[in-house]
Amino acid sequence: MQFKHITVAGSGVLGSQIAFQTAFKGFDVTIYDINDDAIKKAKERIASLEGVYTEYFKNEQDAAKSAQSRIRYATDLAEAVKDADLVIEAIPEVEKIKQDFYKQLGKAAPADTIFATNSSTMLPSQFAEYTGRPEKFLALHFANHVWQNNTGEVMEHAGTDPKVVQEVLDFAAAIGMVPLHIKKEQPGYILNSLLVPLLDAAQGLWGNGVADPQTIDKTWMIATGAPMGPFGIIDVVGLQTVYNIVSTKAAQHPENKGYKAIADMVKTQFLDKGKMGMGTGEGFYTYPNPAYLEKDFLQP
Ligand code: NAD
Repeated sequence: MQFKHITVAGSGVLGSQIAFQTAFKGFDVTIYDINDDAIKKAKERIASLEGVYTEYFKNEQDAAKSAQSRIRYATDLAEAVKDADLVIEAIPEVEKIKQDFYKQLGKAAPADTIFATNSSTMLPSQFAEYTGRPEKFLALHFANHVWQNNTGEVMEHAGTDPKVVQEVLDFAAAIGMVPLHIKKEQPGYILNSLLVPLLDAAQGLWGNGVADPQTIDKTWMIATGAPMGPFGIIDVVGLQTVYNIVSTKAAQHPENKGYKAIADMVKTQFLDKGKMGMGTGEGFYTYPNPAYLEKDFLQP
């Protein structure tokens, strides 16, 4: 089936980007959110994405400028999904909120509508039964800044119909993502299965006093040819997110004193000083010209 109408549920950071990207590629999009206030914020996000896209896609000005005209807004779920071929869910990363949403969505949507979750840390099988249509449900995971970081990780659960998987892979390609098929459930998909251990290891080397962040980044960049090292990546992710993750680990593993030590270092050296990473202009590096981009950074 060729999808025509896409509904994006949740219009926060990722939902608004997914909606804009989908409209930019010519699809009709409905944004669904919980109330008028959320819709007002969605309209502001969408308007600012028009600026981002016109700047980034200098040769596709018409598509960037007409994308907004293909986006409708709704706070009534049945109205929002009545013509949807596909619903992409990008609501908060809270299991209960998502379960309740899928229960309502399963009742409100036409029987042949496919559902995809953009959840970063949960698995489709956690919600499949709530959808009432497990064979038409899977994950379609985007990365922040979808127009540039265009991975489309498509992850099925054991009960997803292979035809649905193919349709969603095709859709991901049609909206400009590189479709990446994950054939069985994997927490963290491919990207975070690789990235999280790298960032954890880098923090461990720093936290244990083995080497300073710049030496760690230099080692990684010289040896692999990567354009930035783990601490450059941490600045992009944001120090608050890194702190939240490491302090959760510290609480879960009190016997491992290393997690607590790293959480304290991140808090006192960065968060307490307002150094949140690239977003605030300073983290392990200062922006817009971080030291790792200077030409002598990798020299002997
Ligand atoms: P966000 O907090 O920015 O936005 C959530 C949106 O959902 C808000 O607009 C909120 O009003 C709305 N919402 C809340 N309850 C709802 C409901 N019951 N029905 C409909 N809408 C509801 O969140 P986000 O960062 O965009 O994350 C959304 C999802 O995308 C999460 O599952 C997250 O794991 C995933 N994700 C986030 C990123 C990221 O970098 N932020 C990257 C990839 C995937």
